[in-house]
Amino acid sequence: MSLLLSPRPIASVLIANRGEIALRIMRTCTRLGIRTVAVYSDADAQAPHVKAADEAIRIGPPPARASYLDIDAILAAAKQAGADAIHPGYGFLSENATFVKRCEAAGLIFVGPSAKAVEQMGSKIESKRIAEAADVPTVPGYHGADQSAATLLREAGRIGFPVLIKASAGGGGRGMRRVDDAKDFETALAAAKAEAEAAFGDGSILLEKFILNPRHLEVQLAGDRTGNLVHLFERDCSVQRNNQKLLEEAPAPNLPDSVRAKLFDAALKLGRTIGYDSAGTVEFIMDRDSDEPYFLEMNTRLQVEHPVTEFITGIDLVEWQLLAAAGEKLPLAQDKIRARGHAIEARITAERADLGFQSATGKLLAVDAQHGARFDSGVETGSQVSLYYDSMLAKLIAHGADRAAALTRLGKGLSELTLLGVPTIQPFLRDAVRQPLFADGHATTRFIETAYPNGWKPDAEELRSLRAAACVVWAALDSAEPAAQWISPWDRRSAVRVTSAVRPAKTSLHLVDEYGQCDADVQVGHDGIVVELDGASIDLGRPVTEGGKTTLASPSGSAFIALRDRNVVSITRAGLSLSASIRLRIEMPREHANLEKSGNAIEAPLHGVVSQLHVALGDTVERGAPIMQMEAMKLIHTLRAQVAGRIEQIRCNVGDTVPAGAILITIAPSEIEEKS
Ligand code: ADP
Repeated sequence: MSLLLSPRPIASVLIANRGEIALRIMRTCTRLGIRTVAVYSDADAQAPHVKAADEAIRIGPPPARASYLDIDAILAAAKQAGADAIHPGYGFLSENATFVKRCEAAGLIFVGPSAKAVEQMGSKIESKRIAEAADVPTVPGYHGADQSAATLLREAGRIGFPVLIKASAGGGGRGMRRVDDAKDFETALAAAKAEAEAAFGDGSILLEKFILNPRHLEVQLAGDRTGNLVHLFERDCSVQRNNQKLLEEAPAPNLPDSVRAKLFDAALKLGRTIGYDSAGTVEFIMDRDSDEPYFLEMNTRLQVEHPVTEFITGIDLVEWQLLAAAGEKLPLAQDKIRARGHAIEARITAERADLGFQSATGKLLAVDAQHGARFDSGVETGSQVSLYYDSMLAKLIAHGADRAAALTRLGKGLSELTLLGVPTIQPFLRDAVRQPLFADGHATTRFIETAYPNGWKPDAEELRSLRAAACVVWAALDSAEPAAQWISPWDRRSAVRVTSAVRPAKTSLHLVDEYGQCDADVQVGHDGIVVELDGASIDLGRPVTEGGKTTLASPSGSAFIALRDRNVVSITRAGLSLSASIRLRIEMPREHANLEKSGNAIEAPLHGVVSQLHVALGDTVERGAPIMQMEAMKLIHTLRAQVAGRIEQIRCNVGDTVPAGAILITIAPSEIEEKS
């Protein structure tokens, strides 16, 4: 359909976003014959979304505030490019009512709902009041105008502990605090208010009953400007970390149709009340053992997880957003919209699942998805993952005739996806979808703590064989090889080199990777290659040559994919990957393990920005006291004293960007601590 003849013609769209969603929007625009305009910060000058657009305009330096959140810069870019419309994607300015108004004032079509709807639903307090007035059940709680600490404490008592303190302007899981006991309420309230003020410029608070075993359910709505409003079924997004979604699916598993009907009814009621005229999502929370979904909030934009709905309905939601924005009627009425099969999405973030989902940065050395699942990615081989933006790199979405089929396809997709160079949660997701709790469709938002009470760790045996293979890759290439190249260690040339390069003596190596370090001995014998590692003997078999291609009989059968750059081998197999720095044991410097081990140095746990210093030179600190704060990819990390003592050195300033492992502060331990 051409949008050129629409009531409000759209021939070109500026996409005020980056990453996978910018590319996703461009795909639909291109299919519809609409010219695309990308915007980018200096950090994204080489990003895939910039290359994919018909035109790309620089809007500022890397920090989002100075680029993707800079309304003036974006409107100027739209003017320069002669765009008809602006699509905000999700995040950034997508739910900013001022931005919607500014777009309209500049004569641009905002691809989204009216400024009024954005405003009404942007405040959790206001949206709850509207929901209540529309007879939509909300979570028991308090969302009154009286924000005094005394009133809030009294209300918390009335609601009954545990309660959840929420920032009215909050989003992305931020600004929430669970309080289990009245005595902790005021401290938590003060902290929540301060955080909300700092993050959203609005310290308004609401209280909710803390639901103990919640499922997160949501309904996709779509409206147009001629008064049509339909639902596109529900999604279940219960698997979350830090109150942010990781796995999403449609339809919701094990959900009675009676609850489904309540969800659709409530979502449509709310949507009609505010005259909703675009794509939007009404979110609900429901205790696992109840059948009463409570309204949580409404997101007046496209959701990250929209592809699962696209799969089951066959509808392109970006196309529907564009149609509505152009003043067209939605192409389908409610009774013509059908759900078929099942779809599940996994969000792939640059995070360390083994370290409580701490964000990670670096350069992606390889990005390669096999076919079979939809891969919506914002990155490609060579992309730099910085700390400026969200940690989500890509999404893998699988569809099947039923849930089991979708799950199998997703599991396979997660195993076959190659991501090298930056740690991601790929191996965690691959394991998580196999957990019975998820596989049987019974996950709540407590899934991770239930399935992994001690936190997720990579499988020890899998890790060992990956490390062993990394050592073989290292030994297979000598320093005369080009600095970086793709190799399969088992192709003809490498396999021959493995045998010739390391025979007959044993090669003793030391390996350090993101999961730890170990010694390894690589030996080539008559029966093949054996690596002694961690007291275990990993038999990588004997190279087999067939049809000119040599492979090693690997225990699991699936192939290793590896890349070596000088002494660093990045390797993956079946969804688990690592980057190992390997050297001959003889070259190991022996002296430098002392300072970090003693615990009196505060080290940067990751590449990030120093955002606060809580101490000054000479201060005395208790063990466990917060010493400083670092920020990386929107997450705040508090670094604490491992020992009691006196602040001896401060080697950084607020605002400094520091690399992982840098020693930032040193503490001279107090005498008591030294004696103990
Ligand atoms: P945000 O706007 O920051 O995303 P939401 O209100 O949508 O915040 O909630 C995000 C997530 O936090 C929910 O999906 C759920 O996991 C958890 N959550 C929110 N409210 C409650 C509650 N009352 N009880 C328990 N968990 C909650």
